[in-house]
Amino acid sequence: MPSPLEFDAHLAQVLERIGEVARALRWKQAVEEGLSPLQIRIMGFLVEHADEGIGVGRLAEELMVSKPTISDSVKLLADHKFIVRKPDKTDARAHALHLTAAGKKHATAGTPLDAAVAGLTPKYKEALLVGLMGVLESLFRKEAVQVQRMCFTCAHYKGDRDTKHRCLLLEKSLKVAELRTDCAEHEVV
Ligand code: SF4
Repeated sequence: MPSPLEFDAHLAQVLERIGEVARALRWKQAVEEGLSPLQIRIMGFLVEHADEGIGVGRLAEELMVSKPTISDSVKLLADHKFIVRKPDKTDARAHALHLTAAGKKHATAGTPLDAAVAGLTPKYKEALLVGLMGVLESLFRKEAVQVQRMCFTCAHYKGDRDTKHRCLLLEKSLKVAELRTDCAEHEVV
């Protein structure tokens, strides 16, 4: 029987391995499609924030990459006809990036990791989400990662981070599957 410390180290190792596998799968997908991992991430971000008028600046901030690097990737994606630039509705001088139908198809294609998660029972999916959100919250509190716009770091969250979850802003109890990890209404505690 491992000691609690050994078990913690074991879990951390498994998490690292999952991170490595996710990166490797992203590389493989990117190479197969003639894209870079950053371009895949950009399209993934755009598909998840389709209504928000995302520009180069926001992408640079969210993906923690410099603006010139994002601009280069965006240009290539536009050349591939995966995204188009449209005037931003809220700022006439800015452009918002939108996925084309071909871009959406690429961005929503599942990976083996998606399929692996889909194979878990609802009980394990919920435990995984709550556990991983707890890990991210802890990293955020230790200033090891930037603000995570998720319920556990939100001023509007009230709950036990286990089975009871409530959003004071939305005035409703949240099921585990409804917990958010990228919420537009998030306010940091
Ligand atoms: S505002 Fe969003 S992040 Fe905050 S508790 Fe409500 S649902 Fe969660």
